[in-house]
Amino acid sequence: MAANAFTVDVEDWFHICGIDDRLPPSQWDALDSRVVPTTRALLDDLAATGNRATFLIVGWVAERFPALVREIRDGGHEVGLHSYWHRRVFDLSPEAFRDDLRLNIAAVRAAGAGPLTTFRAPEWSLNQHAPWALPILVEEGIRLDASRAPVARVGSPAFPRRPHPIATVAGALLELPPLVGRLAGQAVPLGWGWGLRKAEPGAVLDAIAANNRKGDPAVLTVHPWEIDPAPPHVRLPPPLAFAHYYRLSGFRARLREVLAGAEFGPLCELPDAEAWLRA
Ligand SMILES: [Zn+2]
Repeated sequence: MAANAFTVDVEDWFHICGIDDRLPPSQWDALDSRVVPTTRALLDDLAATGNRATFLIVGWVAERFPALVREIRDGGHEVGLHSYWHRRVFDLSPEAFRDDLRLNIAAVRAAGAGPLTTFRAPEWSLNQHAPWALPILVEEGIRLDASRAPVARVGSPAFPRRPHPIATVAGALLELPPLVGRLAGQAVPLGWGWGLRKAEPGAVLDAIAANNRKGDPAVLTVHPWEIDPAPPHVRLPPPLAFAHYYRLSGFRARLREVLAGAEFGPLCELPDAEAWLRA
C-alpha cells in the first residue's frame, strides 16, 4: 500500500493536443523520437529513490517501442492507458473515443502488459465537456480513472480533490484526482505541469504531507519530455506554450528531491484504489 501515487504519461514531445495543423500524426514517424531515453531516465530516478509508479502509455508509443512497455512492467510499475492518438476526448465522437481506447488497449497489451484497468485522458479532457465518455471506460474494462483535474480551464475547481467514485449507467469508476495548490485564491496545478515545475521541492513535500495528515493521498504526474535535457520545442499558442515549456530548466533535479522526500507507488496501490479493486 502506498501513501501517494506517482504517474507518468508516456508520450513523445510531439504528442501535443490541438496542433494537427503543425505536426499531424502522418508526420510523427519522421520526427526525432525521444520517449525511450527520457522514460528510462524516469525509471532510473524512481528506482534510485525506492519508488514505483503508474505509467499511462500512449498506444502509438507502445506499438513502436514495445520493449519500453516491458521494461516498465518488469520494474514493478503499473501499466495504464493514455489513449492511442493523444486527442482531446471532448473533440471526439463517442464512437471515435471507444475506437481509440480499443486501439490503445490492443497496442499496450500486444507489447506485453498485464491487465489494463487504469486510464488518463490526454490534457485532462475527460472533463465536464465529455461526461458521455465515462460509461465507455467502464464498458471497456477500466476501473480507475485519473482524467479530471480540479482546476479551471482543463477541468473544474468543483471536482472533488480526493479519490471518489463516479457512478455511470454502465457501473462505477474510482476517480483519482491530481494534487492541487492555491495561488491568489484559485486552485492551481501543484502535482503536475507548470505548477509542479514552478514549485520548490520543499513546498511540494509540505503539501503532500498536509494531504497525508488529512488521510488523503497526493497524486503527482509528469511527462518524459519534461526531463529531456535538450527538449525540442514546437511553436504553440500562449496557454499551451506555458503549460509545456515553463521552467523546464532544472526540473529533473527538483523532481528527484520530491521523489526522495515522500513515499510513492502506483495508482492501483493507493488504499482507496486497493479497496475499490477488491470490492
Ligand atoms: Zn498526454
